[in-house]
Amino acid sequence: MANNETTDNSAPRDFIRAIVADDLANNRTGGRVATRFPPEPNGYLHIGHAKSIALNFGIAQEFGGVCHLRFDDTNPETEDVKYVEAMQRDLRWLGYDWGEHLYFASDYFEQLYDWAVQLIQAGKAYVDDLNDEEIRAYRGTVTEPGKPSPYRDRSPEENLDLFARMRAGEFEDGAKVLRAKIDLASPNMKMRDPVMYRIRHAHHYRRGDEWCIFPLYDWAHGQSDAIERITHSICTLEFENNRELYDWFLDALGIPEPRPHQYEFARLFLDYTVMSKRKMLRLVNEGYVAGWDDPRMSTVAGMRRRGYTPESIRNFANAVGVARVNSRVQFELLEYHVRNDLNYKAPRVMCVLHPLKVVITNYPAGEVEWLNAPYWPHDVPKEGSRPVPFTREIFIEREDFMENPPHKFHRLSPGQEVRLRHAYIIRCDEVIKNEEGEIVELRCSYDPETRSGSGRQRRVKGTIHWVSASESQPAEVRLYDRLFSKPNPDDVAEGETFLDALNPNSLEVLTNSRIEPSVASDPPASRYQFERLGYFITDAVDSRPGALVFNRTVTLRDTWEKVKAEPEPKAEEKKPHVPVKVVRGTSSDARRRAREANPALAERYERYRQRYDLSELDADLLTVDMAVGDFFEAALASHPEPRSIANFMNNELQGRLGDGGYAALPFGPAEFGELVALADEGVISANIAKEILDEMVEKGGRPSEIVERRGLRQLDDSEALRSIIEQVLADNPDKVAAYRSGKTGLLGFFMGQVMRVTQGKANPQLVQQLLKERLA
Ligand code: ATP
Ligand code: MG
Repeated sequence: MANNETTDNSAPRDFIRAIVADDLANNRTGGRVATRFPPEPNGYLHIGHAKSIALNFGIAQEFGGVCHLRFDDTNPETEDVKYVEAMQRDLRWLGYDWGEHLYFASDYFEQLYDWAVQLIQAGKAYVDDLNDEEIRAYRGTVTEPGKPSPYRDRSPEENLDLFARMRAGEFEDGAKVLRAKIDLASPNMKMRDPVMYRIRHAHHYRRGDEWCIFPLYDWAHGQSDAIERITHSICTLEFENNRELYDWFLDALGIPEPRPHQYEFARLFLDYTVMSKRKMLRLVNEGYVAGWDDPRMSTVAGMRRRGYTPESIRNFANAVGVARVNSRVQFELLEYHVRNDLNYKAPRVMCVLHPLKVVITNYPAGEVEWLNAPYWPHDVPKEGSRPVPFTREIFIEREDFMENPPHKFHRLSPGQEVRLRHAYIIRCDEVIKNEEGEIVELRCSYDPETRSGSGRQRRVKGTIHWVSASESQPAEVRLYDRLFSKPNPDDVAEGETFLDALNPNSLEVLTNSRIEPSVASDPPASRYQFERLGYFITDAVDSRPGALVFNRTVTLRDTWEKVKAEPEPKAEEKKPHVPVKVVRGTSSDARRRAREANPALAERYERYRQRYDLSELDADLLTVDMAVGDFFEAALASHPEPRSIANFMNNELQGRLGDGGYAALPFGPAEFGELVALADEGVISANIAKEILDEMVEKGGRPSEIVERRGLRQLDDSEALRSIIEQVLADNPDKVAAYRSGKTGLLGFFMGQVMRVTQGKANPQLVQQLLKERLA
């Protein structure tokens, strides 16, 4: 029976799940749920397939059903066993399991043939001698009925004889077809005597030369579903008009209920991506990319090589939602999920993309000092560190030095100090140039009192990454950008194709980069965050010990921007993307002056302090200008909790605003108020509220609707949490022992694990309390 636990107490996530739940509740499918994922093995799986996979496998999982993997291999010309294998590999990597349910439509050729004979005998199918073009001409148009083929009224006996001879190979390709005899005046063109079989004398990768007639999609698909006793046959919207035919064939064969039914949802369109195996095949065959697994390809294999995680792809696929309206999804949503997952999975290390040599003149030559460098920042509940060698000669990022820096350049410049991450503060004393005037070396001195982690420290504004010159490893780094330069690559001028939309700069290869030695013998395909640069993975194909190759998976958060530094006086080599956080906004002085000049702002400030009891800082930030206060007050109308609204506006929303400020947000104060209300009421956790805010800032939407669609309700069920906690503790016996022997700092680690399993949905206070009880 259906195991419906996850959907019982909340509304179904989407309309297809609602149908499945309703069918089970009304016993329309004999208590079973069976879905299928039916790819044609004529290419590699892509991110669009991932949406269909997540839906079909997800429904099977959630409702205690099964999901079949069926290769829809009825077309001999383009299919290949290498694609069958690649698709299975990619599905497994994504984390889906079809168990024993692996099927091939080509195994059903005999059954389909027998059923076709049955339709001929019943006068419901006939052999037609018209060719493709004639069939099209006879079919009529949406406004005109079709006219019958001169062969439409052949007797069943004659049809049986001709069909048997088609199968026996007596006729050449295209000489005859088998058609269903339905209705040439149907308003649905699919019903105007659709073709069921065509003749192709071609070798099939599985059936060899056994067959020279092949079933078309509509005839093969629904009948395959019936053979496998699929309950919900889910396909994309283009097949909406095929549904009538799907049902007609099942009726004509007398297949009784419970039998398969077709449901359609919108296919995924992702910006800067083509989503068709045929187009991807051209990119591969014509050498625009290095293969199906080129990291720029939106294939599962390409995304794997690029460093995406299975979880990030699954989370993305679930987050885009299932609807009946086609829409394009922004690439940033995919990248958001990649970063979100990698933040907890990819340890931080240091790599210098464009090295500039620095000699630390007061550091002894020949000495190697091993500094302890944590892999994780404080806000990630993970432990671990590695030794990083510090020496007299190091490399820093060329871009982190400027001879004539603009005002807010907090990195290295002549006479200025900067902190070397995990190491010391250095000051630049001298700049060495070659005859062409290019900077080739910096001479710096270090302050031995400033080693990171050594107690009280003086502060400097900037921190930069670096590696030891002698102890680091050479590395090749491949910086990938979008494969296409247009959001919709098919939207090109007359006479152009999607190939004209290719981005000529989608790959930049750096061959002089240097990386810290800790990574030297890590296994292939290890993921890292290169500090300040982005997420990277060792290339699974080309990287070798001693000749490491890294692929950039994704840059750091795109809410970070490059500092708008004035261009350097002198032309420099092409720069890497080094993101630096830009803090927007005004100074508190400027805000005070604005209030002095505008009595309405001053009035608000007083009122927010007196009536709403806001802190000075909150009141101050909300009176930057009238628009901010307007938004605040309008949000109060939908959730009258001034301190919560102020808090969430100032701490979360403010930092997410784009250049257009509040006016450019794709949602209004009412939606914002609703979001804060959901968090205040404990329907969602504070972290999830931030995640929802990310989505709202990106594409608008109602928070309550996003919560339901993405299944983000806070998990407050202590029984469910207890069982997750048991699992986490069982998986980490050594950490449990360490905690009990006094390393109570590990509480954060356990919290992190529980949050990961629940995808951030657990109520953190409750988790903490339960963990403390359990570990006591
Ligand atoms: P392609 O044009 O890439 O070959 P297709 O639909 O012909 O796409 P199939 O191998 O027949 O590819 O597809 C297998 C399943 O994946 C089908 O159920 C199809 O509906 C689904 N699918 C394919 N592309 C997408 C997409 N972009 N979004 C959602 N589902 C998709
Ligand atoms: Mg196809």
